[in-house]
Amino acid sequence: MAILSGQTALPFNYQVIYSRRRSVQLAIKAGQLTIRAPKGTSSQFISALLARKQQWILLHLARTEAEADSAVAALDRHEILVSGQSIPFCWQLAAKANVVMTERQCKVSIPTRVKPERRALYLNRQLQEYFVPLAEQYFQQAVASQAQLMGCKPKAIRIGNWQRKWGFCNSLSEVGFNWRLMQAPTWVAEYVVVHELAHLTHMNHSNAFWQRVTKFSADYRLAEQWLKQHQRLLL
Ligand SMILES: [Zn+2]
Repeated sequence: MAILSGQTALPFNYQVIYSRRRSVQLAIKAGQLTIRAPKGTSSQFISALLARKQQWILLHLARTEAEADSAVAALDRHEILVSGQSIPFCWQLAAKANVVMTERQCKVSIPTRVKPERRALYLNRQLQEYFVPLAEQYFQQAVASQAQLMGCKPKAIRIGNWQRKWGFCNSLSEVGFNWRLMQAPTWVAEYVVVHELAHLTHMNHSNAFWQRVTKFSADYRLAEQWLKQHQRLLL
């Protein structure tokens, strides 16, 4: 059996497994395309087949990727991160919306009137409502003490709800933080504070900027890595 990885002009990567078989088979699993082909099948034959099947492949790649994502989707979750700690999570239908958060579990009640297809969104909103006041409190304090250390003065602190942004700093000297950081460990949230405050001095990601970040957050690479690795787990 031989395995070849293909990177071609086609808009997807694939893997070809040659073995003693009679026909070519395409399989897509978790966003990965695998072609099983009889020994001796030419790469031209496979390229032509893939080009012909391109629409089908793209459709199914997208579908299995979406499925992989929904594996960690809110309603299927059994755990939630709070300050980087994983705690058991469950939800139930109830007359009223509610979030119960203890050190041992997070339990969310979704009103029965909410349509099934809206439940995931509703759950997310409830968690957001729970975390935003905590985030406000946390970042007020964290920014105040860090700003003192760094000798800078942000004009305002905002809490935001962004899918792909942890924080911001603008030319009005306002800094903002994503409420989802309340699910990350404190040392990670602290790094984001340092990052945004460092932008008050350097409005870019220049070497000078990173030097300033390193000075106040020596582990910043670890924090960046944590965020990259856990982004999909943060609700
Ligand atoms: Zn930045």
